[in-house]
Amino acid sequence: MIELRTPAEIEQMRPAGRFVASVIEAMLAKAAVGVNLLELDALAHEMIRKAGAESCYIDYHPSFGASPFGKVLCTSVNDAVLHGLPRDYRLRDGDLLSVDFAASVDGWVSDSAASIVVGSPREEDLRLIDTTRRALDAGIAAATVGNRIGDISAAIAEIARAEGYSINTDFGGHGVGRTMHGDPHVPNDGRARRGLPLKPGLVIAIEPWFLETTDRIFTDPDGWTLRSADGSRGAHSEHTIAVTEDGPVVLTARD
Ligand code: MG
Repeated sequence: MIELRTPAEIEQMRPAGRFVASVIEAMLAKAAVGVNLLELDALAHEMIRKAGAESCYIDYHPSFGASPFGKVLCTSVNDAVLHGLPRDYRLRDGDLLSVDFAASVDGWVSDSAASIVVGSPREEDLRLIDTTRRALDAGIAAATVGNRIGDISAAIAEIARAEGYSINTDFGGHGVGRTMHGDPHVPNDGRARRGLPLKPGLVIAIEPWFLETTDRIFTDPDGWTLRSADGSRGAHSEHTIAVTEDGPVVLTARD
């Protein structure tokens, strides 16, 4: 079911967006060579406690998950790209880290993700990350009243294809509201002028993620972490946005 939010409800969603943005910022600031993924999760957990927020992940147990997630942050390193279950691992020079975080504040959810390289980056990793960011910007720019979901999908895909990346549509963006995942699905590839018309009050997460040389993934034995089929690296950029008469509002915008 597609739920549309009133302008007052979108205002109520802002604290969650700001909080999620602050956690992503803190993760990007803390991530460095030698930092353990469990330390990042612990810091995110501490921020949740201090803010009186609620984790969307810790008890999350969808049909594709082996057991409740048990952590509050997704940390995906190198060939891991989505749903990375934090483990006892210290970041190494040149690691490509994607963090994904969703939490609820005042009963409203926001969801955001970003990738960085710790230490000395490889050129190809920076290009991959930059492409997910530009695809996210293009997707957001297409999230205007009168457009359709397919316009967002097509805008994302065009950026990826121009850089030679293929696209996996098993996981993509989604409606966001009282819970983390709702309708509609927002695929990272699709046809312009097709799909659900975008109306004021639609709140969605847009989340392009690409792998360097494949569009195929498999699930790590941990039951959660999704890795590239060929060992190539992945990157991920995500914001929660509201479609409004005045254009898209990025609820999880960082300074
Ligand atoms: Mg997310």
